[in-house]
Amino acid sequence: METILISACLVGDKVRYNGKGNYNPLIEKIKDKYDLVLICPEVMGGLSVPRDPSEILKDSVITSSGKDVSSYFNKGALIAKNLANYTNARKAILVDNSPSCGVHNIHNGKFDDVLIKGEGVTTRLLKHYGVTCYTLEEFVEEFITN
Ligand code: SF4
Repeated sequence: METILISACLVGDKVRYNGKGNYNPLIEKIKDKYDLVLICPEVMGGLSVPRDPSEILKDSVITSSGKDVSSYFNKGALIAKNLANYTNARKAILVDNSPSCGVHNIHNGKFDDVLIKGEGVTTRLLKHYGVTCYTLEEFVEEFITN
């Protein structure tokens, strides 16, 4: 079975900044077909649940209260990349709009609910090391036929 990294909140783990999960029922279409390695880069990097929301601003990640949490995000991304190497995962399913896991979009860094084109810190590192990143919708559309 192919091994794939997946954002833990997508399968319902309550690891989001607000203490909630982000369960997506499309997970049922893939959970028995792949070895899923759950990652939450923000928690793996040392941040707590719940935590202040964060957004990418230029080359840093900043919380809504103005604290620079880039080092936590970078550490979580590195652990995710090492997990991909260790498990030989060449694909990842990630949550769009997240400062860690965003695939196509991220928030604009002003905490005003505006999205811009961009990718999360972990997404960027995984892609740099050759891991192809998808949203769950994209993955199901591309690889699941029924
Ligand atoms: Fe989900 Fe990724 Fe945010 Fe963790 S860092 S809560 S896995 S989107």
